Amino acid sequence: MSVDTASISSSVPPIATTSPQVPADATEPTVVVESVSISPILPAAGAAAATPRHIRLTSHAGGFGALPIHWGAATATERGPVVGTTTKRAHRNVIGTHSGSYSVYRALAVAAGALNPQHKADLTNTSPTDVIGPYPQWSEPGRIVSLDPWGATIANVFSNELAAGYDIRPTIAITKAHVILPEVIEALQSGRLKADGKFLTPNGAAIVTKAAIEPVWYLPEVAKRFGCSEADLRRVLFEETGGMYPELVTRSDLEVFLPPIGGQTLYIFGNPADLANPEVELTARIHDECNGSDVFGSDICTCRPYLTHAIEECIMGAQRGGVGLVAYSRKEGRALGEVTKFLVYNARKRQVGGDTADQYFARTECVAGVQDMRFQELMPDVFHWLGIKKIHRLVSMSNMKFDAISGSGIEIGERVNIPDELIPADARVEMDAKMAAGYFTPGAVPDAEELKKAKGRGLTE
Ligand SMILES: [Zn+2]
Repeated sequence: MSVDTASISSSVPPIATTSPQVPADATEPTVVVESVSISPILPAAGAAAATPRHIRLTSHAGGFGALPIHWGAATATERGPVVGTTTKRAHRNVIGTHSGSYSVYRALAVAAGALNPQHKADLTNTSPTDVIGPYPQWSEPGRIVSLDPWGATIANVFSNELAAGYDIRPTIAITKAHVILPEVIEALQSGRLKADGKFLTPNGAAIVTKAAIEPVWYLPEVAKRFGCSEADLRRVLFEETGGMYPELVTRSDLEVFLPPIGGQTLYIFGNPADLANPEVELTARIHDECNGSDVFGSDICTCRPYLTHAIEECIMGAQRGGVGLVAYSRKEGRALGEVTKFLVYNARKRQVGGDTADQYFARTECVAGVQDMRFQELMPDVFHWLGIKKIHRLVSMSNMKFDAISGSGIEIGERVNIPDELIPADARVEMDAKMAAGYFTPGAVPDAEELKKAKGRGLTE
């Protein structure tokens, strides 16, 4: 791949000038710098003072003992483990570190002296409650590019490597839970749901299997999904994060990136093994995080009502002999973040003419530059990890999600919209705008006149 040497060298001088290893030839300013002292820059505070007083740059190919990754290989042994820990840097075979955005908190814990950076996880009794796969999709070219299908079972499939001293961490964890939601209790009390003691207890607890998944990106295939070259993807990821991961541009041999973003959580109602059986009715919702509505009940959107409706549908599906799945992605505010989202709310409600559906997307675009950054291109990976071939009932109106899932080769049967009575009054603007933009609805699509009507509350109402 091509490397923009000008932009790399501009990030290096304060460090490189202190290093005796920098070559006189300035055309290759970074590739041989492995370790440089910058002790005057770091404050000597807490236990961090006991750590080595130099920074390890990783712009240097060929760590001793780093295992190769053959992404998409049929077996775990052929694929090789993802080693993103910093305890033994020579073993690292990826860019970035584990835990997504929480990698920064881990760094803070080390900086504060609360965490020994050499700590190795004791994985006793942490193995998955349910085994997922392996499924044929795991090794079909280009099917799974943004998570590690072997991420839940590293203790089994990489036991030899673990015994040899490789610090391999799970990127997926699977456990059991009871989830208790007021909407489900209300459905039970009103008779819409019936307790069976198997999927739903008499006190309204839904019995689920849940999985947490961290992002693991195979860069060559991620680039393909977004229609750009791998070199461009690497350069833009590097530049637009302020140069956070220099290896994106200096280490083209490292093809796997653990991005510092939120992951996904799965809630499975019924037997997880049934997800891969196209004969078993699957009810599924893919839900993108909306803290304001999901957790705090804000009524400007339909997120929580749609989520709890999907959970109700999943419970009923499981009780019919099927299986239910809610895949929850950390993509707050269309992946624009909550600050942008709240700015947009103000812009919508203060605009001349009030909060109208016809200006709904325009107001987001004015603030963010785009309508949406969720880009559903990577979303279907999780379905392929679960072995899913058919979704009988997709609880979503999003045409983007529908297109991404069906475009990835998964058959979709019925589409289930949110019932009108669950749409909060202030969320009518969003719902009308989305239906006019192509979201699925079995009813009438609002016309231009309808979209001009101010339906959202004012800011002080
Ligand atoms: Zn929302």
